[in-house]
Amino acid sequence: MSRILIAEDDARIASFIEKGLRRSGYVTHVVADGVSAYELARGRDFDLLILDLGLPGHDGLTVLRKLRNARVTLPVIILTARDAVSDVVGGLESGADDYMSKPFAFDELLARVRLRLRLRREEPLDGFLLRVGDLVLDLRTRRVRAGNRVTDLSAREFALAEILMRNPDRVLSREQLLSQVWGFDYDPGSNIVDVYVRYLRRKIGAERVQTVRGVGYRLRV
Ligand code: CA
Repeated sequence: MSRILIAEDDARIASFIEKGLRRSGYVTHVVADGVSAYELARGRDFDLLILDLGLPGHDGLTVLRKLRNARVTLPVIILTARDAVSDVVGGLESGADDYMSKPFAFDELLARVRLRLRLRREEPLDGFLLRVGDLVLDLRTRRVRAGNRVTDLSAREFALAEILMRNPDRVLSREQLLSQVWGFDYDPGSNIVDVYVRYLRRKIGAERVQTVRGVGYRLRV
């Protein structure tokens, strides 16, 4: 049974969410301030956090940043006031997995909760994952998740993906990629890097690997 932590200081909203989730079979716990939210979310007792941004103590964004800084990968759905686009952007940049604008329909929240919990189950243990935005590479299984799509990578595709993801937004030359993925066994004039970038693009989405003309490639962030 999945356990969901709800951090919301508006008792009416907290109770609305809690009742709905309980009816759907989840175990819930409500806290009304950011300090308690952080302390509880840090432990291993919960599978998901629903986090209001306007909280006493630490605000929601601070809670989220502290959790991510502490390498807590718990899925987080943030709750924001309607139309606060900057909150949404700030939340996603700070490591939120999803967001809901208030007021919201409970069914929509439930759908998002289910999706996050399902993705969570498909994810391996912490520490073996490399993340760049919504691109997640599993270093043990060589599986990559791009958004909601999970794909297996071949050994070379995996090595290429790993180098790109360890250097996000940095231009890597063909020579760098060739020497790191293939060693020096290949002729520098070989087009093998371009061929594998094409394979990788098919699996993670073409737009994520940008061609820098005459130089090499860059993983878009
Ligand atoms: Ca609030």
